[in-house]
Amino acid sequence: MSSKKNILITGGAGFIGSHLCKRLLNDGNKIICLDNLFTGSENNISNLIDNSDFEFVNHDITKPYYREGIDEIYNLACPASPIHYQINPIKTIKTCTIGVINMLGLAKKNNAKILQASTSEVYGDPEIHPQTEKYNGNVNPLGYRSCYDEGKRCSETLFMDYYREHNLNIKIVRIFNTYGPRMRINDGRAIPNFIKQALRGEDLTAYGNGSQTRSFCYVSDLVDGIYRLLISDINDPVNIGNPIEMSIKQMAEKILQATNSHSKITYLPLPVDDPKVRQPNIGKAIKYLNWNPKIPLNEGLKTTIEHFEEQLNIKKYD
Ligand code: NAD
Ligand code: UDP
Repeated sequence: MSSKKNILITGGAGFIGSHLCKRLLNDGNKIICLDNLFTGSENNISNLIDNSDFEFVNHDITKPYYREGIDEIYNLACPASPIHYQINPIKTIKTCTIGVINMLGLAKKNNAKILQASTSEVYGDPEIHPQTEKYNGNVNPLGYRSCYDEGKRCSETLFMDYYREHNLNIKIVRIFNTYGPRMRINDGRAIPNFIKQALRGEDLTAYGNGSQTRSFCYVSDLVDGIYRLLISDINDPVNIGNPIEMSIKQMAEKILQATNSHSKITYLPLPVDDPKVRQPNIGKAIKYLNWNPKIPLNEGLKTTIEHFEEQLNIKKYD
């Protein structure tokens, strides 16, 4: 009998999901990658597709999916960039509710462990800084971000109810802003926008006065944290993110420096409900998962910029 685990990864053709597929495949598991390719792409998994332990299934998790023999499920399916999750907000909510119920049902049938990719957005525009897992958040239930923020809060509720009612082995990771290679050129989030603009010699578009803060984690660190959570015996939410906080203006300046760009920073209106600050308290991850982010920003930005240079077909002649 094979000792390989059968791991289902939804959203596996997306940015974080494709890195997770690669990591868990390299660890010697069999991976089923389920994705409807809304924001994901087959290019992200083209390096895995020839591996006989890797299977891609084009499927939308808002429709039921039946399969036997699954040991673990990582539920990452959901558009993550504000511009994408707001294209069809009702669909975003369906993915976070009906989709999540479908995956929890699948886990229950298989008696599989299941992890939900939740988000720092469950804290909304936080009044507690940095955010600990105990903070219940300050979320507008009626705004343009609500389909995602409240959708993810409901995903967490569903996970906890399956844990209490069905004794399912659940994990909830609250992911803070993550960046790295395989983010899309048209992703719309701050780091991809700034790198693309800097490389093209366009103005960098900081929203508001750029004083709002975020804390950016490199994708390999995040994937390691997610994996450590899945193999832990923790069932309540854990923050995973890099606690080094900076303003968006500072990030724009860093990217100008790292790309040797002569672009300028221009200021555009701040989107409604844009959180003013965000920084994870990672005490729980340090204590229970022995996890700490390792990749410094300069290093992470370098590989991310190289990825965008490739995407934009920018040749370097030095
Ligand atoms: P992404 O948009 O690159 O990946 C999401 C993937 O899910 C895509 O491949 C998309 O095609 C797929 N998908 C969307 N709806 C689906 C559906 N109904 N059925 C099947 N597949 C579907 O985003 P990402 O940055 O890789 O985020 C992955 C997960 O992590 C998301 O759940 C997101 O909410 C969470 N997260 C990400 C961040 C971050 O900074 N990247 C922060 C917090 C939480
Ligand atoms: N942002 C910006 N310019 C951009 C894209 C985003 O100033 O071109 C800001 C955005 O308003 C937010 C921060 O950068 O304050 C992070 O945005 P992102 O979409 O990356 O993630 P969020 O934390 O909002 O989900």
